[in-house]
Amino acid sequence: MSFPTIRMRRLRRTEALRTMLNQVQIQPSSLIYPIFVDETITEPVSITTMPGYFRYPLDKVVDEGRAALEQGVKSILLFGVPSKKDETGSGAYAKNGVVQKAAKELKAQFKEDLVIIGDVCLCEYTNHGHCGIVDKENGDVRNDETLELLGKTAVSQVESGVDIVAPSAMMDGQVFTIREFLDDAGFEQTPILAYSAKYASAFYGPFRDAAESTPKFGNRKSYQMNQGSVSEALREIELDINEGADMIMVKPALAYLDIISYAKASFDVPIVAYNVSGEYSMVKAAALNGWIDEKSAVYEILSGIKRAGADLIITYHAKNLRAWLK
Ligand SMILES: [Zn+2]
Repeated sequence: MSFPTIRMRRLRRTEALRTMLNQVQIQPSSLIYPIFVDETITEPVSITTMPGYFRYPLDKVVDEGRAALEQGVKSILLFGVPSKKDETGSGAYAKNGVVQKAAKELKAQFKEDLVIIGDVCLCEYTNHGHCGIVDKENGDVRNDETLELLGKTAVSQVESGVDIVAPSAMMDGQVFTIREFLDDAGFEQTPILAYSAKYASAFYGPFRDAAESTPKFGNRKSYQMNQGSVSEALREIELDINEGADMIMVKPALAYLDIISYAKASFDVPIVAYNVSGEYSMVKAAALNGWIDEKSAVYEILSGIKRAGADLIITYHAKNLRAWLK
């Protein structure tokens, strides 16, 4: 059977029909709101390369947590900007580190209502801006020495109130090591969200301004994934699941929708997509110029990421979304 018996337009005729048949729902509860906490400021500082986005001082973090909850967003992802950086990124695992302090305040205020995710990496805390210990002779990031520091970071975050740890350094064995460290510390119930397929991407640029984590030399291509890799992404995900990851992530989202889709088809764990800073800033820049309609574009982008197979989306648009969805 075909035309004229079949007319595909019959089901598109009214708004009610279109809404009824919509297969992709964007729920605020499936969005994760990233927050930058900066130890060196006393007032929110706007991030030039991410219009509408701010770094917050510690005493404003609770307000941001509340703002997220008021939008129906249940979860935040914490990134820290420390007052001082060093070779080994000690601020990442310091008892009174910036993320640790923020997590304590948030946990005291919101208890179990807000899910606090801690990004576990060293690049915001090292003076060279790389995600691990750098070999002074050849500039390489030393994998196995970095693992212990990531393990320590995860434990210290959870001690401070972080509910889920999210290792993002792309070191081999990081999920395994963190699982061991957490279990040894009595945190065997704390889930790990692994940045499994994290590509070396041009779309991280604005984030690096926000978190002051641009590498001082070289790039991250020896640990983050090559853009042309497909099977390697699936292998990374599989390894992380075998090492104990409870959820996995694909990052960035838009240029890697195929990877999200393959991951969804291949693995029965929650798939998280990171709609990264550059993806946010492109939309913002175009919208500020009046070139696109921001709300429609954001809704379309998030629908696309969902359709590809993401269960959860980390997005800088999270805070505004509820008003838009109405
Ligand atoms: Zn990093």
